[in-house]
Amino acid sequence: MLEEIIKKGLTQLNQKGELGDRTKYVGSSDLSCERKAYLSKINPPNFSDENLMVFMRGNLTEEILKKILDNQKMNYTYQKEVIHPQKQHIKAHIDFLFQGKQEFGILEVKSTKHMPDEPYDTWINQIHYQMGLVALNNPDKKVKGAVIAFDISEGNYRIFNGFVYNQSFFNELEKIADKIWNALNNNDLKDLKPSPSFLCSYCHYRADCPAFLFYDDNAIDLNPISQSVFDYIEGKNMEKEGSNIADKNKAAIKNFMRNFTIGKLEDITVKFSQKNRNSLDTKRLALEHPDIYSLYKKETSYTQIDII
Ligand code: SF4
Repeated sequence: MLEEIIKKGLTQLNQKGELGDRTKYVGSSDLSCERKAYLSKINPPNFSDENLMVFMRGNLTEEILKKILDNQKMNYTYQKEVIHPQKQHIKAHIDFLFQGKQEFGILEVKSTKHMPDEPYDTWINQIHYQMGLVALNNPDKKVKGAVIAFDISEGNYRIFNGFVYNQSFFNELEKIADKIWNALNNNDLKDLKPSPSFLCSYCHYRADCPAFLFYDDNAIDLNPISQSVFDYIEGKNMEKEGSNIADKNKAAIKNFMRNFTIGKLEDITVKFSQKNRNSLDTKRLALEHPDIYSLYKKETSYTQIDII
C-alpha cells in the first residue's frame, strides 16, 4: 500500500517537473550522447523507482540552493527558458540566471554521489550550450557561467567557475543539436554518434549500443569509466598500505608502553584495553554436529572485485 503511494507520488512529481515536451526540442542534457538523445525522444524509457528518486534528489538540490539564494536576497530567474532566435528546436532551461547591467551569469546545478575533481565533459557542454543561447539573444552583453555540484548526503559542494561564452564551442554544440533534430525528423539515427561515458551506467539503450564494446572473452570495455577503475586500485593499495602502517606502529606503541595502559602525546590520548571476542569454531561444529551446523548456517551474498 505505502509502496504504491510512493511509486505513484514519485511518478507524478517527476512528471510535474518535466521541462515541456522534450520531443519538441533538443535541450542541453541531450548533448551528452547523440544516440541516447534520439532514442529517449522516440522511445522514452520506463524509469525505475530508483531513477525517479535520483531525479527527485536533483530537484531537492535545486530547492536547497534556491532557499540559500532567497535568504541572501539574490535576484535571479529560476528555470529560465532560452531559445535559439532562428531555430525553435534549440532550447535550454537555465537553473539560475543572474542578470547584471553588463552581463549575464548562468549557474547550472548538479547533484552527485561522487564529487569529481574536474567538471565532466557533459557538464561543460551543457553550460556552453546555455551560455551560447543567452549570448545569441543578448548580443550586447557578456555571458559567463559556473557549475555547482552538491553531494547532499555528505553535505558537500564544489563550484566549477570561470566559464565564458565561446562562439566556436557553441557552434559545435549547435551542429550536434541540429544533427539530433534532423535525425528525429528523418526518423533515422545512422548518422548519430554514441558517446560512451560514465552516463552509460544509467542508459536505457545500452543493450544494443554499438559503442558498448566487448572483448573476445565477453569482458566489457571499461574505458568510459577508466578513472574510477584506476582510483579504485589506488584506493585499495592505500587501504593495504594504511593497514600495514597501523599494524606496525601499534606493535611499537604497545612495546613502549609495556604495562602502562594510557599514554599521552600533545592532545592525543592512547589507551590500551583488553577485550574478549566470542567466536565459533565452525569447522569443528560442522564436523562434530553437521545437523546443527546445517540448521543454523546462513548464506549471504556479497560483491567481490578482483583486479587481475
Ligand atoms: S550506452 Fe552510452 S554510448 Fe550508448 S547510447 Fe547509451 S549513453 Fe550513449
